Amino acid sequence: MSADVETSLRAPQAYELARTALAAMETHKVWPTALNFELWVHYVAAKDSPLGAEIDQMLEANEPFTDAVGETLAAKFLPKQKLSSEILDTGDALSKELDSVTRAIVSARESSEAYDQELANASESLAGEDTGKIKSMVETLTQATQRVRQENQTLESQLADTTAEVGRLREHLEQTRREAMTDGLTGLANRKSFDEALEHACQQAEAEGGTLSLAVLDIDHFKAFNDTWGHQTGDQVLRYVASVIGRFGDAPRTAARYGGEEFALIFPGETARAALAMLEDIRLEVASRVLKRRSTNEDLGAVTLSAGLAERHAGEGPAALIERADAALYASKRGGRNRTSAADPIAAEAA
Ligand code: C2E
Repeated sequence: MSADVETSLRAPQAYELARTALAAMETHKVWPTALNFELWVHYVAAKDSPLGAEIDQMLEANEPFTDAVGETLAAKFLPKQKLSSEILDTGDALSKELDSVTRAIVSARESSEAYDQELANASESLAGEDTGKIKSMVETLTQATQRVRQENQTLESQLADTTAEVGRLREHLEQTRREAMTDGLTGLANRKSFDEALEHACQQAEAEGGTLSLAVLDIDHFKAFNDTWGHQTGDQVLRYVASVIGRFGDAPRTAARYGGEEFALIFPGETARAALAMLEDIRLEVASRVLKRRSTNEDLGAVTLSAGLAERHAGEGPAALIERADAALYASKRGGRNRTSAADPIAAEAA
C-alpha cells in the first residue's frame, strides 16, 4: 500500500474510504479477504494509479476478480512495500544485535586496557619494594585477571547468542526473499522472478554466445471454465497445470506463472528443438488427465494448453523474445488451441 493510501487510512475520512472499498467489492463480487481489501482500498483511494488502471480494465472486460487475480495484482503492485518493511524490520533487529556485540567488544577492550595498565603500574612499583607490598600487588593482579576472565566469559556467551540470532534473522530474510519471488497459488516463480531470470539468461546468452529458448503457455478457455465450475476449482486447475509445468522447470530452467492463466518456461542453453519436445510432453500430460471437481466429484473433463516457443536471436533482449514467443502462442490459439507453435521455421519443422 502506498504511503498516500496509508495516510488516508489514518485520516478522518478513513472509515468512509474503507466503506467505499467494501461496497465496491460487494458490487463486483469480490471476497472481502485481507489481501483483496488492501487492493481495493488502494483502488478506491487512487483510481489513476497503475493498479487502478488494471482493475478498471478488468471491470470493463467483466473479468472475475478471483483469488488468483488478487494474488497476481498484489505480487505486481503491493509486495515492494511489504518486502521492504520486512527487510527493514529484519535489518533493525540485525543492527541491534550488532550494536550489542560492539558494546561487548568495546567493554572487553577497555577491561583489557585497564588490565595492561595495572600490570604496567605493578611492574614499575615492584623495583625495590618490600614483600608486603609485593603480596598486595599480586592480589591486585589476581583480582584483575579474574575480572578479565569473567568479562571474556560474558563476551563469549553474548557472541554465541548473537550468532544464533543472526542465523535466525538470515533464515527469516531468506524465507522472505523466497516468498517475494514465488507465486502464492502455484508455488512457481512469480512474474518478478521470471523477469529477473529472463534478463539474466539473455545477458548470459549474449556474453557467452549461448542458446536460449523461451516458452509461454496458456490454459485454453480458462475463463469459460471458471464461469462454469467456479473460481475455487479454477484455482485448483491452475495448481494442477503448474505442477506439471514445474516438473520440467529444474535449474537452470525457470518455470513461472506469468499472469492469470499464463505460464512461462525459460530454457537456458537449450534449442527450440529440444524445448519443443518438452512442451509437447507437458501439453500431452496435461490433456491426458480427466480432472474431478473436488466438492462434488463431477468430471471436469480435460484441460488443454496452447504454447508458443521462441529461440533467442543474437542481440535479442527479453522484451523482443517474449513478444515472439507470445506471437507463436497466438498462432497456436488461432490454429485451434491444444498445440504448440514455434516462432522460427527451423524449430517448427522439428515439430
Ligand atoms: P493438491 O490437492 O494439494 O494435491 C497435491 C498432490 O497430491 C497431487 O499432485 C497428487 O499427487 C496428490 N493427490 C491429491 N489428491 C489426489 C487424488 O484424489 N488422487 C490422486 N491419485 N492423487 C491425489 P498433482 O496431481 O500434481 O496436483 C496438484 C494440484 O492440482 C492439486 O493439489 C490440486 O489442487 C490440483 N488438482 C489435480 N488434480 C485435480 C483434480 O482432479 N481436481 C481438482 N479439483 N484439482 C486437481
